[in-house]
Amino acid sequence: MTTRSVNVSDNIVVSDKVNLLGLSQKALVEYFTTLGEKSFRAQQVLKWIHAEGVTDFAQMTNLSKSLRAQLSEHCEVRAPEVISEHTASDGTRKWLFRVDGGGAIETVYIPEPERATLCVSSQVGCALNCSFCHTAQQGFQKNLTSSEIIGQLWHAVTQLRKEGVFKAINRPITNVVMMGMGEPLLNFDNVVMAMDLMLDDLAYGLSKRRVTLSTSGVVPAIDKLREVTDVALAVSLHAPNDELRTELVPINKKYPIVELLAACKRYLRDDKRRRITMEYVMLEGVNDQPEHAKQLIQILKDVPSKVNLIPFNPFNGTKYQRSSNEAIVRFQSILMNAGIVTLTRKTRGDDIDAACGQLAGQVNDRTQRSAKFKQQLAKNTIPIEVIHS
Ligand code: SAH
Repeated sequence: MTTRSVNVSDNIVVSDKVNLLGLSQKALVEYFTTLGEKSFRAQQVLKWIHAEGVTDFAQMTNLSKSLRAQLSEHCEVRAPEVISEHTASDGTRKWLFRVDGGGAIETVYIPEPERATLCVSSQVGCALNCSFCHTAQQGFQKNLTSSEIIGQLWHAVTQLRKEGVFKAINRPITNVVMMGMGEPLLNFDNVVMAMDLMLDDLAYGLSKRRVTLSTSGVVPAIDKLREVTDVALAVSLHAPNDELRTELVPINKKYPIVELLAACKRYLRDDKRRRITMEYVMLEGVNDQPEHAKQLIQILKDVPSKVNLIPFNPFNGTKYQRSSNEAIVRFQSILMNAGIVTLTRKTRGDDIDAACGQLAGQVNDRTQRSAKFKQQLAKNTIPIEVIHS
């Protein structure tokens, strides 16, 4: 494991410049129109920023001198500030960023032979209070701006390109999962704007099957999402009945399972090739029994879905424990025997706490700063595969 840190001022960054980093092509065209510029200028700037990683307008040499000067005066291209970077022995890398307002967020890079996934945060903290989630303990602090969301991908791509570590798969990042801190559907507009940039050929050109939004189940926002994009959808189901789900994912009280699954079906628009990924955290003795698997089969009967079992990542003070490997294998086989595609997520980057909210938690939650929690993780012996859309 290697760690690099930089000094970060505690000053809150205040800027009245327009941050072009977070503007989608459409928004940039609108902005350039207000400046009296042709729309192709927006496309040129988009390419400089995202495809070339250039932040200094002076280097955007195909723009006129006067436009460059005007942009330097009124605009900026500013990604969140890196606080630290940790690389695990398995190559998983985690960046901790300082965002405007002073909070910290995390971004995790997961390299594999055939692909490289970036796990991106959408909020500082989270308001949803899922009982097994460390981010929940930090409470909600703020929505990230679209610059802060796309800035995580921008930083990863720019740095990995410089390092040249992606040669085998031809591009630094192939997949993005909105599975970092926060509930992306509660920061709807900024998340959608950032995802537009992820999919834009002039920016990152990711396939819509390779950008996954994970939600705890904000039903009206799932319907709204369907109107504006069709990225892959993952849903944090975690329980096969309302009583248990409300205990684990309290938003279930507002949007119970039937409503959630109906929204999932609507999201797929009868496209037979697509499925919703159902995330299911494996909590020992809580939701991991054969009867839970059988209930799950029943509720997923007519929902085109695949199940992604996530071994629980323990953290300091949690009342839950990770299910045993035997329980996970048993649960997985019951689902698979019923014809449900089921994968168990491989744990990655254990030596750098590269799991949901853990590192940023140490910064945002001052009481835990010095108490670095040591995970005691059993070695995974079950059939495993990392699944990201
Ligand atoms: N708010 C979004 C994104 C959350 S993080 C959502 O709820 O989907 C992505 C996934 O990690 C979610 O399925 C979340 O429930 C799960 N998760 C959170 N804490 C976890 C933990 N301690 N161990 C394992 N999975 C966890």
